[in-house]
Parts: sequence; structure tokens; C-alpha cells
Amino acid sequence: MALPGIAGLPMERVMSENTCAVCDYPLDENRVEVTIGGRTVEACCEECAQKLREAERSA
Ligand SMILES: [Zn+2]
Repeated sequence: MALPGIAGLPMERVMSENTCAVCDYPLDENRVEVTIGGRTVEACCEECAQKLREAERSA
């Protein structure tokens, strides 16, 4: 059973709680939460968060 990804990202990336959904960088206190498709995805920085938002918009 293959779960659909979010905004073109593989689900295993999106589901990871400890790394950035965009660049896979370990999350630290600068993490940014972005809600995509009703799910909360975490990015390591505002730049990556912006990429997630743009990906959602173009999806
Ligand atoms: Zn990142």
C-alpha cells in the first residue's frame, strides 16, 4: 500500500518528525511548522517553509 506524498514529497519524508521535509536537515529550535493538506509538516528554516507553501500552491 503506497501512501500518497504531499506536494511532491515522499510520504516517509513528510512523516519524519526530526528532519526537514524539504532538505532533510535535522530540525532544531529554528524549525518552522507549515500546514499542508491538513497535515503539519516541519521545515528547518523559513526558506524551506516557503518552498513547502509554494509547492502546495502549485499542487
Ligand atoms: Zn530545510
